[in-house]
This record gives sequence, C-alpha cells and structure tokens, in this order.
Amino acid sequence: MYRKRVAYFYDEDVGNFHYGPHHPMKPHRLTLTHNLVFNYDLHKKMEVYKPYRATYHDMCRFHSSDYIQFLRRVTPQNTGGQSKLANNFNVGEDCPVFSGLFDFCSIYTGASLEGAVRLNQGVCDIAINWAGGLHHAKKCEASGFCYVNDIVVAILELLKYHSRVLYVDIDIHHGDGVQEAFYLTDRVMTLSFHKYGNHFFPGTGDMFELGVENGRYYSLNVPLRDGIDDQGYANLFKPIMQAVVNHYQPSCIVLQCGADSLGCDRLGCFNLSIKGHGECVQYVKTFNLPMLVLGGGGYTIKNVARCWAYETSLLVDQEISNEIPYNDYLEYFAPDFSLYPDIAARIENQNTKQYLDHIKHTVIENIKCVTGAPSVQMQEVPPDFICLESLEDQEDPDGRHDDESRFEGEFYDGEHDVDKEDAYLEV
Ligand SMILES: [Zn+2]
Repeated sequence: MYRKRVAYFYDEDVGNFHYGPHHPMKPHRLTLTHNLVFNYDLHKKMEVYKPYRATYHDMCRFHSSDYIQFLRRVTPQNTGGQSKLANNFNVGEDCPVFSGLFDFCSIYTGASLEGAVRLNQGVCDIAINWAGGLHHAKKCEASGFCYVNDIVVAILELLKYHSRVLYVDIDIHHGDGVQEAFYLTDRVMTLSFHKYGNHFFPGTGDMFELGVENGRYYSLNVPLRDGIDDQGYANLFKPIMQAVVNHYQPSCIVLQCGADSLGCDRLGCFNLSIKGHGECVQYVKTFNLPMLVLGGGGYTIKNVARCWAYETSLLVDQEISNEIPYNDYLEYFAPDFSLYPDIAARIENQNTKQYLDHIKHTVIENIKCVTGAPSVQMQEVPPDFICLESLEDQEDPDGRHDDESRFEGEFYDGEHDVDKEDAYLEV
C-alpha cells in the first residue's frame, strides 16, 4: 500500500488564545501537540500549511448571520452592553467571550475548510487539523466550548464533490451539533461513540436517535457507560465501522478525534489508552478513503498532545519512539517522559459484556436498514470556496484575513445562491 499524501494545518497563533482562568479548554494544548509532532520529525512526512482563515461568509454557510455578526463584534470590554444577545447565543460561562474569539474561530474553521478543499481537489489523501473538531456548536448558538462548527462547514464543502460523507466521532461527548445539522439528510451519515446517561453533557445521543425523514437511519449513536476500556471499545468500533462502510459506501470520511475519551481526562470518565484511541484512527485509515482528521475535546493537555502526536505518526506511517524527544515543553511530560504512559484511571468499567453486545447488535441492525448506497441527483456544483492557487500566491498571511470579498458575489446571489436559510437541511 502506498504512503498517503498528508496535509497538516497549523497556525502558530492558535495556542495563544485563552478561554479564561480555570476554564478547562486550553488552546495551549495545540502548541504542545505541534511541538511533539515537530520534534518527532513528523513534519518531514507531510505537507505543512499555515491555514486559510475562515471569513464571516464562510461561517454563515451553516450559522445564522446574526450569531456570527455577534461573534465578530463582541469583546471582553463590550460584553456588558450585550448581555441579552450573549444570553440568546449561549455565550457566557461555558463559552466565554475572550480576547480574539473571532480570530480563534477563523483559524480553526479555516483549517478544516481548507482541508476539505484540498481533499476535494485530490491533492492530498488525508488532511489533519488538530485545532478543529468543535462538534457542539449549533446554527444559532455556542455550546460546550464550541462557537463555530468547523465540522459542518467542512462537510458542506465536501458535499460539493462527494455524494455520501461519513462522519465519525470518538470524543467522549455526543457529536450533537453535527448530528443536528444533518439529521434530515441521507448524504451525511453521522456515527458517534460517547458516554451517555446521568445527565452527562450534552444529554443527547441515545441509541434511538436515528434521524428523521430522508435522514432516518443516517444518524447512529453508540451510548456508553463510564470506564470503557480499549478492548471493549475496539470490539464495538471495528464491527460497527465495517458495517457502516459496507452499507453506506461513503466516498470520504471525517473523523473527530476528541481526546477526552482517554483515561485520566480532566472532564472525562472513560479508560482508553493512547494506543487504544489511536487504534480507532488506524482502523478508519484502512478503508483507504479520503479522510479529514480533526481534534475536539481533551482536557488533560499533556495526554492530548501525546495522543494527537501519536495519531499523526499513524497517519503518516512513521513509527515513533516511546521516549518523548527533547522539546520546548519537556517538563509537561515528567516524570516518565514517555509517549504511552499508563493512564488507566481507577474508574470501574460499567459496560458489561451483555450491555456492549446488546448495543452492538441494535446498532448493526439499524445499519442494515440502510438499503444500498443512496444516490444523489447531480446538480450544478457551486464553485470551490478557496482557490488553491490564490492561496499559494498569497505570501502575506495578513492579506487573507480581511479579504472577504474574494468569495463574495460568485455564488451568494442569483441562481447560484447556495447560502439560503436552512440550506444545510436540504443537502
Ligand atoms: Zn468532548
């Protein structure tokens, strides 16, 4: 099997944003991750890009314009005067206003969008954006530390070239924002493995949430209890993935690799090891389909960095040593300085074999209701969001930020308008 062409997106500014003191979401984990990737020499096996920054218009492909307008204008200094709006958009405690919020959203969303464009163009086989994967954001509101749903924006771009997109989510939380966006369509199948029950956030993702209308059976959920281990997880993940790919026949896969499903996560309650988490990524890769690989949750940041660096090595087919290489943040990896520390938590595994067999059986029966790969009537395809050549020509990165006009006019009006309200429900 030939080595995959991997595109990797990293903006060195992304780790410098702060959600605020005591907030568990720490963008600094992205700096740690990149630092490991770089010091393991993995950048030599990939094309490394400073990503495109998503504009207001890019975000409005999914989100409502008044919500994105709010994100663009709000600052820690002027929030006081907009408390009613902030409340409406669920911006406040979990999803605070912080300095540079809109830039942060532009960076992680732009990278996912550029990944989708490069996959569509066939210039890479795998695109990686560890800053992305913010799966809880809704059309008109922030949720669960997520503001702009880069995943939905990227999938909408993939749908210009792909008739069926499979979305797989291994974050400990349900991928509710992505499921909701595509709940009525058969062109995107969403498959989420997550902790469910006891009011665990976000509270959705029961096995019986299957999609509606044309989307019935195209939303799949695997609800798990506390403490699931590598073996129990793999025994569900692999047969379910295999059945989904066989029945649905996607032409590309978006994989959200939230690392809060690892043992010892600050907010999680699963028991996966770094190798166990990585085994899912490796397994998805064996289907040989174009892949957009994204980050997501992950709150014990030294382990998030270990996990995503390891998964980068799997994606580029490069074995790496258990010994953490010398790097700028070496102290984070004390005392063992190993890539695969024992992170088994002392959380009792509440997933009995009987329970796991039952959900595996039910989910696979539901997958069988997908009879044959649904076809799509081809319509005029809107133009690509980003012209790769113009990206490469544009040496001045600042030029990208403000240049919203490049994407305006071409398909926001007249018969090419694909930016209708609720367009996302019609795909
Ligand atoms: Zn999560």
